[in-house]
Amino acid sequence: MIDLAMPIVFMLFIVVAEAVALRWGRGEPVNWHDIVFNLNSGHIILWLFRGLEVTCYGYVAARFSPGLLDALPAPLMWLFALLAWDFCFYWLHRLHHRFRLLWAVHVVHHQGEHFNLSLGVRNSWYSSLTSIPFFLLLALVGVPLSVFVAVSIFHYSIQLFNHNALTPKLGVLEKILVTPAHHRVHHVKDIAYSNKNFGGSFIFWDKLFGTFCPALPNTPFSYGVGGDSSSANPFWASNLPFLRYLRIAWRPRPGQPRSGRSALSVFSGTMLLFALVVGYVYQYGYGYEQISWPQMALLVLLALGAVALGGMTEGRPWASVVWLLNALLIPLLFIGYLNWPQSWWYMTMAALALHALCIALGWGRPTSTDPSEEPHG
Ligand SMILES: [Zn+2]
Repeated sequence: MIDLAMPIVFMLFIVVAEAVALRWGRGEPVNWHDIVFNLNSGHIILWLFRGLEVTCYGYVAARFSPGLLDALPAPLMWLFALLAWDFCFYWLHRLHHRFRLLWAVHVVHHQGEHFNLSLGVRNSWYSSLTSIPFFLLLALVGVPLSVFVAVSIFHYSIQLFNHNALTPKLGVLEKILVTPAHHRVHHVKDIAYSNKNFGGSFIFWDKLFGTFCPALPNTPFSYGVGGDSSSANPFWASNLPFLRYLRIAWRPRPGQPRSGRSALSVFSGTMLLFALVVGYVYQYGYGYEQISWPQMALLVLLALGAVALGGMTEGRPWASVVWLLNALLIPLLFIGYLNWPQSWWYMTMAALALHALCIALGWGRPTSTDPSEEPHG
C-alpha cells in the first residue's frame, strides 16, 4: 500500500520542513506543542473512519449505482469527478459550519490558533465519518471507487497546501483556485470571516453561492474560535465538543501546560509514533480487507500513544506511564504476532522504547529555573 503511505510521508515532511523554515529561516516563533497536537489529533482513528468511508463508498458504488457515467470518455469522467468532489466538499464544509452536530466535528480544525501547514492536518477523529453521506452522491452517479480515492487524495493535497504560511498571493490562480490567501480568511476568529470561503480547491463555488470574501480584516485579528480552549489530548479534543453539543456541563480537570514536557521530548515521540502510523497504512491500507486482532491491537496502541503525548503536553502524571507501557507492548505485538517483514520497524520500536525510558526517567520535565520549558517555544 505504498501509494497510500507515501502521501502521508510527504505530508509529514512538508509540515516539519515548513516549521523549520518559519523558525530558522524567517526567525518567527513556532509553537511546537501545537504542531504535535495537530499531527496527533486525527491520525490513526481518523484513518480507521477513512477506511469505513471508502468501504461504504465501494459498497454503494457496486450495488446502487445505475452507471450514469459509463458512456463518458475517461478524461471527461475524471474531469467530472474532480469538479463534483469539490462541489460536494463545498456543501459538506458549509453545512459543518451550519449544524451544531456537524460543527462538533469540524470545530477541532478551527480551534487551531496558528496558521501553518500543520493546521491542515488538525482534525477531529470523526471527520471522515461525517463526510460519508456527502460523497455517496458520487458513488450513486457512478464515479468508480478508484477514481474517488485518487481524486480525494488530490483535493486533500491542495487543501493541505492552502494552510501554508509561506506562499504569497498566487496571481491569476487566485481567480480560479482556493489559495492560502483565501483560506486564511476562513480561519479568522470573527464569524463574519469564518463563514466565508468554504471551498476546498476551486474558489468559484464560493462566488457562485455568495460566500466569497477576498481579503483578511484591516483591523487586528486572530485565528481560532472563541469559547473554551481546546484540550491537547486528542481524545478530549475530539469528544468534548459532543459534551457541549449535548449541553453536558462536566469537563475533565484542566491540564497544566506549564508542568508539561518540553517541546523536543514530545515532538520526537510524535515522529516515532507517526513512523508506526505510516507503517500501519503501508501494511494494511484502509484496513478493512482482513481485519485481525493484532491489527486492531496496534491501532488501539497507536491511538493510546497519541493520547499519552497529549497528556505529556498537559503535564498529566499518567501520561509517561501510558507512554512507557505502550512502548513495551508495541514491540511485544510485533515480535509475537505482526511479523512485518521490513527490519526498520524494529529499529523504530527500539528508538520508541528508548524514548519512553528517557521520558520515564524525567526527560523534558520543566525545571523552575529553565524558561525554555514554556509551552510556546
Ligand atoms: Zn471550516
